[in-house]
Amino acid sequence: MRLYKYLIIGAGMTAAAAIAGIREVDNAGAIGLIGAEAHPPYDRPPLSKGLWKDKPQSSIWRSLDKTALTLHLGRTVRTLNPEKKSVVDDQGGIYTYDKLLLATGGTPRRLPFGEDHIIYFRTLDDYTKLRELTRNGNHFAVIGAGFIGSEIAAALAMNGKKVTLIFPDKAIGSRMYPPELAEFLNDFYREKGITLLTESKVSGCDMQHGKLAVKVSRGSNSNERQISVDGVIAGIGVEPNVSLAAVAGLKIDNGIRVDASLRTSSPDIYAAGDAASFYSPALDTWLRVEHEDNANTMGGFAGVAMAGRTVAYSHLPFFYSDLFDMGYEAVGEVDSRLEMLLDWKVPLKQGVVYYRKAGRVRGVLLWNIFGQVDAARALIAAPGPLTAADLVGRISP
Ligand code: NAP
Repeated sequence: MRLYKYLIIGAGMTAAAAIAGIREVDNAGAIGLIGAEAHPPYDRPPLSKGLWKDKPQSSIWRSLDKTALTLHLGRTVRTLNPEKKSVVDDQGGIYTYDKLLLATGGTPRRLPFGEDHIIYFRTLDDYTKLRELTRNGNHFAVIGAGFIGSEIAAALAMNGKKVTLIFPDKAIGSRMYPPELAEFLNDFYREKGITLLTESKVSGCDMQHGKLAVKVSRGSNSNERQISVDGVIAGIGVEPNVSLAAVAGLKIDNGIRVDASLRTSSPDIYAAGDAASFYSPALDTWLRVEHEDNANTMGGFAGVAMAGRTVAYSHLPFFYSDLFDMGYEAVGEVDSRLEMLLDWKVPLKQGVVYYRKAGRVRGVLLWNIFGQVDAARALIAAPGPLTAADLVGRISP
């Protein structure tokens, strides 16, 4: 049996930040880190961005304070007993804790076919597998045009690969971008040589004569076409890993519920990162955020809280993406179902999109504008009402 003052389940970015947070307050208490992957914590964003440009793989590793830190990698926790304050892993290892952090992240959604032929792109091993395939492979199918799909399609095209991007919507990122920007992105991706199969869904994928045969149908048309590719990557969303917490009786509601001190409904158990649902004072709603800034900031706060210092997590996380030589930073509810106000500096190339509801700003997309996230947060915090005249020109490059 291993006894830890602090035990962390999940060895991703949230965990790395939590270790730093604990060490801000307690420089000696024993920390145990259990992770399902064989790797110590690494930065995930470069896997679909920088590593396909000029960023070296060696740069992704998180530097960890090794003081009284023990890593248990390649292990998955199977049971959690809050009364005994213990967990058991898939190899029968038993661990006890004073304070526990659930940094369990999310698991990619899968399609009901294709088995191991489809790379559900999320981990370093997925990156390595895709890199291997690109050595000899030339044509890749990418399913889904959310964050993973749009970034990986761009990354592969930038590396000289033929890409077919298949997705159910009319345009890339339709859930987030105003229609004209999403349409512009479609044209932009086509100009970069990517074939778009819009309003399309994949209904099968199997190996035929050494190639992957992907079956695609469009709209309500039941006629299937088949494309032959060297690799298939899917990014069709993730589900938060809450089952351990649910079975242990913790409160779950679109993620593991935490209070402002990042405690779950069980007092010595904390949760942070993709799997945690927290109340956002700025937006006056519950959020679960699957982005780097939230993993790092919330993980850090959780570590500090576990080590005994009072915290109140009120951070409104931002997120960002790289699409070829375009990019953005964004914060809040970036949702195209809201009322959108477009403030272009250069039409479709650079500008701000404000997402509004009831006279207040709920989200801000900073399209090819960087370093203005705090200004955007301030507008979201403003009680309003804010009219178009109040907003146009408020944020400049
Ligand atoms: P995502 O951004 O939620 O996008 C999933 C996309 O897949 C949606 O556009 C969805 O379309 C589509 N989809 C759903 N079912 C499909 C199906 N059966 N066939 C084809 N398309 C389907 O999720 P993701 O791209 O998989 O990313 C996974 C996670 O990693 C997310 O949590 C994301 O936030 C995170 N991530 C973040 C970044 C970043 O911050 N830059 C980068 C990479 C990954 P509908 O909208 O029509 O349902």
